[in-house]
Amino acid sequence: MNYKKSIKAFAKAQKVIPGGVDSPVRAFKSVGGTPLFIKKGEGAYLVDIDDNRYLDFVQSWGPLIFGHGDKTIEKAVIKAVKNGLSFGAPTKIETKLAALICSMFDRMDKIRFVSSGTEAVMSAIRLARGYTHKDDIVKFEGCYHGHSDSLLVQAGSGAVTFGTPSSPGVPADLTKHTLLAKYNDIKSVKECFKNSKNIACVIIEPIAGNMGFVPADPKFLTELRALCDKHGALLIFDEVMSGFRASLKGAQGIYNTKPDLVTFGKVIGGGMPVGAFGGEVSIMNQLSPDGPVYQAGTLSGNPVAMAAGLASIQQLLDTEGLHAGLEEKAKRLVEGFKVAADEAGIPLQVNAIGSMFGFFFNDKPVYNFEDALRSDTKRFAAFHQGMLQEGFYFACSQFETSFISSVMSDEMIDEAIEAARKVLKAIK
Ligand SMILES: *Cc1c(COP(=O)(O)O)cnc(C)c1O
Repeated sequence: MNYKKSIKAFAKAQKVIPGGVDSPVRAFKSVGGTPLFIKKGEGAYLVDIDDNRYLDFVQSWGPLIFGHGDKTIEKAVIKAVKNGLSFGAPTKIETKLAALICSMFDRMDKIRFVSSGTEAVMSAIRLARGYTHKDDIVKFEGCYHGHSDSLLVQAGSGAVTFGTPSSPGVPADLTKHTLLAKYNDIKSVKECFKNSKNIACVIIEPIAGNMGFVPADPKFLTELRALCDKHGALLIFDEVMSGFRASLKGAQGIYNTKPDLVTFGKVIGGGMPVGAFGGEVSIMNQLSPDGPVYQAGTLSGNPVAMAAGLASIQQLLDTEGLHAGLEEKAKRLVEGFKVAADEAGIPLQVNAIGSMFGFFFNDKPVYNFEDALRSDTKRFAAFHQGMLQEGFYFACSQFETSFISSVMSDEMIDEAIEAARKVLKAIK
């Protein structure tokens, strides 16, 4: 494949945009090569500006569960655009989408819309702190909850569970209230509760997608719920990625554990910038203007974005057997990869739930971030490059999740497996 135009466009972009991108993972740093500049999406495919075509397993990092250019969403957006792009005043479509989502989940009476997953999480945490009158929060190593200050933390030295900033620009004063626990390890959470009597909430990706694809153990979530109840802390499920993806009801459609607050993003906007957080009325009523916890947004509930979100969620509800079909394809793909890797003598761990899947170049199963970090990232980079050459676009890091869209056929999946067989043999 020829990437001439992308290389040129990237050079130009780097002159005026830091790293040439508006979100760092897009720069292909961990796999090398030039990020592809995209001209358009067509169903299951992406077309770059050099007119190369790729089967797209990234789908804008999750939102596009119906693939590119879905006609129902497109129609809804165009209709909304004709009435105006933004009013900063209530519109009926916000209520419609809110009611629809609340009707899908237990313990969700109210929901508020924002414009990104980052904002949803940041607001949910402020609400949890306001509601409990406590300051500390617990997060898990390897889980990503957007780029707000208090969540950009890494493990401190020694046995201390309090995090330190993972980025310059984040004052240690802002992360000293964030405790770090180990995913799928309830002992580490107990340790946090031992170290602090001031914990407002525990936030978790119940199906983690940001350290690669690592689902939580059901028993771990049950115990987490019990610990939160015992200590009067709220449990927040960050379902920005897994929501409407892992199942129609995200992780809540798979596990029995119910959170107090849920955050959404990605699929909820159908490709437009939307985030949301919701929960029971007693908690949500603490939010301004009903309650004292401040939260706001000029473009929150934007009518065009809401139209895309509503069309997307309504279509999810209307398409019978959608997630079962997506999961079948996801499993077909990763099981095919696994066989191909075995044939090549390359250790590979695979996993899939609903339309989410992941694979680690690792000889042991991955249960947490530490396990994930033991993966062979060089081999991943070689695989990624090889698959790109064959016309398959995967998330450009070992520590990301990939996705199936509803417009992918079994034939497309089988083509990807064949390509993987060839690439794996070549990079052995
Ligand atoms: C993507 C993601 C976020 C951040 O959402 P943005 O829209 O990128 O701000 C937060 N949490 C999880 C679990 C995510 O996958």
